[in-house]
Amino acid sequence: MTDTIRHSEYDAIIVGARCAGAATAMLLARRGLRVLAVDRSPYGSDTLSTHVLLRPALLQLARWGLLERLAATDTPAVTNTIFHYGKRAVELPMEGRDGVDALYSPRRTVLDPLLVDAAREAGAEVCHGQQLTGIVRDASARVSGVRLRAEDGTQLMVKSGVVIGADGRHSTTARLLGSVVERSGEHASASVYGYFEGLELDATPTNHWFYRPEISVGLTPTGAGLGLLFVSAPAHQLREALRVDVRGALHQGIAHGAPELLPALRRATQVGRLQGFGGQPGFLRRSHGTGWALVGDAGYFKDPLTAHGISDAFRDAELLAQAVAEGTDAALTEYQATRDRVSENFFAITDEIAACRWDLPRVSELHQQMSREIKRECDLLLELDPVPGPSDQPSSPALHAA
Ligand SMILES: Cc1cc2nc3c(=O)[nH]c(=O)nc-3n(C[C@H](O)[C@H](O)[C@H](O)COP(=O)(O)OP(=O)(O)OC[C@H]3O[C@@H](n4cnc5c(N)ncnc54)[C@H](O)[C@@H]3O)c2cc1C
Repeated sequence: MTDTIRHSEYDAIIVGARCAGAATAMLLARRGLRVLAVDRSPYGSDTLSTHVLLRPALLQLARWGLLERLAATDTPAVTNTIFHYGKRAVELPMEGRDGVDALYSPRRTVLDPLLVDAAREAGAEVCHGQQLTGIVRDASARVSGVRLRAEDGTQLMVKSGVVIGADGRHSTTARLLGSVVERSGEHASASVYGYFEGLELDATPTNHWFYRPEISVGLTPTGAGLGLLFVSAPAHQLREALRVDVRGALHQGIAHGAPELLPALRRATQVGRLQGFGGQPGFLRRSHGTGWALVGDAGYFKDPLTAHGISDAFRDAELLAQAVAEGTDAALTEYQATRDRVSENFFAITDEIAACRWDLPRVSELHQQMSREIKRECDLLLELDPVPGPSDQPSSPALHAA
């Protein structure tokens, strides 16, 4: 279904309306800007991604007044995490602080519409079934709007103070703007995942991460009483297996990476199709210019093995919303500088984990480094200005000069 765009001019147009785009739309609308977010995919649709949320993502949802809404869905509150390094198990019960008492792994069909609803509630227009086809520039070459095509083929030009690409790792916005990759990862893991009924291992909801040489396996409870099970391995190995037999790739991965799961897996029922991801090395793209910016995977992608893409999308949505509200090109420059500085270590850690060349002591050390980075990131988020709550935003946003 195509949503109708109501105006011909906005303060900000955002291309992509999931973790990065819908969050940015909500934050800008709460600051009183007139915002349009468009997405070519339908409201509430699924996407290729597992969905383990780590503490920074949940801290952001708490700061934005949305964690209670997530907790009210059927997504279980996870209060324990167990890392299995071969036969050595390290248990990390959840420590409640800063409004985050549990971890959650909401399906993207739950998380993304929750963000879209919050953006709309804040006054943003969010239109699905609209695809970006072109960028418009003014006489001084500053980006001043977009060209869109609706599902029925209708074309439209819409003007905007700033155009934000939140359209994922294959971003059309980045390509049309000529944004260059400024830092590349070297490694990539491929993965296969699916949903299973009857795969609980524990009385209380627990995230399990299993590591054996060259293979990682994860199991996390999600909505509808299902367990999300995923296997990751070096892309050059798993990619071929995925082409031949996705189910075989998952079961072989479990047999090598978490054989202790096999008895439970035999008893469990698979629900829905398995999904395969062939892998892609991480990158940081140039993410600002005159009248434009990138946020989320469009500007910064890293291997999914560290389950941090959604956390970073939420962090950068807020950093970008602050910069756009300031309304200067210098603020956009500062946005990217901050993103790059706070992402540097995590990007390197992720790239090493994605290589899957570690032994068990090394991957355990990398997880401890990750944990220190997560702590640093949470400290940064807690220092940001408070975000206006769901009911604090102005009722009729004025059109701002960008
Ligand atoms: C296999 C896999 C597993 C992952 N697991 C995790 C995990 O467990 N935890 C975690 O935190 N992260 C995970 N990630 C990363 C996470 O999926 C991303 O970081 C996150 O989705 C980024 O959100 P985004 O809004 O930037 O982009 P996306 O979620 O990719 O959304 C982009 C949107 O833009 C729209 N779009 C694209 N082009 C256009 C266009 N031309 N016009 C209009 N709309 C357009 C698309 O329809 C899409 O809806 C995983 C990724 C993969 C691939």
